[in-house]
Amino acid sequence: MIAFLDLKAPYLELQAEIDAAVARQMASGWYILGPEVEAFEAEFAAFAGAAHCVGLGNGLDALVLALRALDIGPGDEVIVPSNTYIATWLAVSQVGATPVPVEPDPATHCLDAQRVAEAITPRTRAVMPVHLYGQPADIDALTALCQRHGLRLVEDAAQAHGAALGTRQVGSTGDIVCWSFYPGKNLGAFGDGGAITTQDAGLARRVALLRNYGSAVKYVNIEKGANSRLDPIHAAVMRVKLPHLLAWNQRRAAIAELYQQRLQGLPLGLPAAAPGTTHAWHLYVVTTPQRDALQAHLTAAGIGTLIHYPIPPFRQDAYREFADRAPQWPLADRLAREVLSLPMGPHLGLAQAAAVADAVAGFFHD
Ligand SMILES: *Cc1c(COP(=O)(O)O)cnc(C)c1O
Repeated sequence: MIAFLDLKAPYLELQAEIDAAVARQMASGWYILGPEVEAFEAEFAAFAGAAHCVGLGNGLDALVLALRALDIGPGDEVIVPSNTYIATWLAVSQVGATPVPVEPDPATHCLDAQRVAEAITPRTRAVMPVHLYGQPADIDALTALCQRHGLRLVEDAAQAHGAALGTRQVGSTGDIVCWSFYPGKNLGAFGDGGAITTQDAGLARRVALLRNYGSAVKYVNIEKGANSRLDPIHAAVMRVKLPHLLAWNQRRAAIAELYQQRLQGLPLGLPAAAPGTTHAWHLYVVTTPQRDALQAHLTAAGIGTLIHYPIPPFRQDAYREFADRAPQWPLADRLAREVLSLPMGPHLGLAQAAAVADAVAGFFHD
């Protein structure tokens, strides 16, 4: 049996340190925000090359509060990928704005800047690229486009901890960058967690207000905020994990390299880091029209796989108002039929990855 992802392995690797950090946090008597969260925010900001980090309750809230901090709301349009996880769209809907789907570049699965340009209207306020699967989106082209049209760039980096564009870390570009620490992400908490990073002190202050009832001074509320605070216990755990993140990403990259070497030549679309970028390899996603049969073959061989994602947002009942226009996004539809995520993670052994690759090759050779 080869699991898609071993969620317990990072804990076991760092058990003594994590146990000590959790015990220290429990004994501190401080259970909301406070020094542990502040220390994590400073360390994660430094990691991401950002001046500011604000810890939040989850990744969806990070996206929502980023849009609220930019005063995006009813009547506004926000450009989102047609092929993302639904959270990106839900954030736009939660603030009362309208998601405008744009198709990806088939090579990177990330927003195609040319198509984004064509989707801009007088109501467009922001562009929300997703660094999907850990591949940085084309931030240079999107930044230029946003500057030309006076738009905000809000990045969904929920899958891209440690990814980079040249020497710039993901987290250091754009107006505001949104993170999730859901347990399965490259940096995961022991429950829900999220954050924003930004170079803009004003935006950071606004998100810090919004996450805490719109209040900076207890019982003084200057706007209608939310309750979405990163828990200090998760901050304590992630402070132990963060120094290992880049080495863990390197182990992911070694698995991606092994897959690339063993799978090339098969009738299978393989992912590759776009030139000049460091991929975080959150997921290793292959494409084939025979996806369902390949997945069944791997399941029978005891190999866990997942599909990210089987139903595009515009085909979900939650977005039934898009159903009539669904044929406008054929690439997202094709990807939903063809993508398959192979086992990937820092604790997957190279021998296990080789066995996965052999099983995939066996499907095509039998
Ligand atoms: C995980 C994820 C989110 C949401 O994060 P949560 O912490 O689960 O709310 C948002 N966008 C993308 C692309 C994700 O993968």
